[in-house]
Amino acid sequence: MLIDTYGRVATDLRVSLTDRCNLRCTYCMPEEGLQWLAKPDLLSDDEIVRLIRIAVTELGVTEVRFTGGEPLLRPGLVGIVERCAELDPRPRMSLTTNGIGLERTARALRDAGLDRVNVSLDTLRPEVFQAITRRKRHGDVLRGLDAAHTAGLTPVKVNAVLMPGLNDDEAPELLAWALEKGYELRFIEQMPLDAQHGWKRDGMITAGDILASLRTCFTLTPEGEDERGSAPAERWLVDGGPATVGVIASVTRPFCRACDRTRLTADGQVRTCLFAREESDLRGALRSGAPDEEIARLWRLAMWGKKAGSGLDDPSFLQPDRPMSAIGG
Ligand code: SAM
Ligand code: SF4
Repeated sequence: MLIDTYGRVATDLRVSLTDRCNLRCTYCMPEEGLQWLAKPDLLSDDEIVRLIRIAVTELGVTEVRFTGGEPLLRPGLVGIVERCAELDPRPRMSLTTNGIGLERTARALRDAGLDRVNVSLDTLRPEVFQAITRRKRHGDVLRGLDAAHTAGLTPVKVNAVLMPGLNDDEAPELLAWALEKGYELRFIEQMPLDAQHGWKRDGMITAGDILASLRTCFTLTPEGEDERGSAPAERWLVDGGPATVGVIASVTRPFCRACDRTRLTADGQVRTCLFAREESDLRGALRSGAPDEEIARLWRLAMWGKKAGSGLDDPSFLQPDRPMSAIGG
C-alpha cells in the first residue's frame, strides 16, 4: 500500500502524459516562453505502462487518471489505455482533457477500455473562451464533449474555473447547460499553480462566491460527507436532485485529510501533492535496471513523506516550481 504517516492510503494515481498543450489557459500557462520537457526525459509508453502495472499490482492503486498538459496530444494514448485495461486487477481509468481532438478519439478510447472523461470547459461564450485559453477552439471542445457522451465515456464530467471579470457571471448558465446535456459540472477554485505566478488570493472566485451565484437560480442541498468519501468535490443536489453540481475548493475548503492521491509526472517523478515542492525520481531507477520491488519501495518511501496539507493556509506558502501543466492537473 501507499500509506503515509497520517494514515492516508493513496489508491488514486494521476499520470501526466505530457507537459505540452494546444491551449494556453491564463490560469495555467503563459502565452509563450514556457520550456517543454526534453523528449529523452519523458517516460516512454513502455515505462509508463510498467509504472502503472507496479502501482496497480504491488501498491494498491485502483484508479488511474491520465492528464497533462493535454493528454490527447500523446500519440500512444490509446495503446497505453489498452495495455492498462489488461492489468489484473483492472484499474478504473479516466482522462482529464481540454476536449480538443476527442471528437476523433472518443470511440477508440472507449474501445481501448477508458471508463470516463473529465472535459475542461470554463465558458459557453466563444469570445470568452478565446480570452481565457488564447485560442479559437470552443467548437472543438463542444464537439469533443458530444462525442464522449455518445461513445459512452460516462458520466461525462465538466471542469470549470471561474476567472474574475471574464466568466465569473456564468455559473448558473453553465449549470443549466450541463443539466440539459446530462454532464456533471464541477467548479474548481483557481489555485496558485500558474506558470506566471500571477495568482492572487484576493482576486480569486471562491467556493462561497460560486455557490451564492448558483443559488440565484437553483436550490442547492448538500449531498453529505458519506457520499463524498475522498472525492475532492463537495457536491450539492440541484433542485432536489438527482442531478448534482460539485465545487473543488482546494483553497478555501481544503480536503487534504481525506486525500488518496499519488501523482506521476511525464518525466517520471512521484509527487505526493499538487503543491509539493519535492519530487522523487523513479525514471532514474527504471533506466538503471531496477527490479519492480525496488521501484515499489521507492514509491512507498516517497508517499511516506507526504505532508499533512497543501500549506496554502500558511503565510510562508511557496508556489511549486513547476506549473500545473507540468505537474499534471
Ligand atoms: N489539459 C487538460 C485539461 O485542461 O483538462 C488536462 C490538464 S489541466 C492542468 C487539468 C485541470 O486543471 C483542468 O480542468 C484545468 O482547468 C485545471 N487547472 C489548470 N490550472 C489551474 C489552476 N491554476 N487552478 C485551478 N485549476 C486549474
Ligand atoms: Fe492546457 Fe489544460 Fe493547462 Fe488549459 S488547463 S493550458 S488546456 S493543460
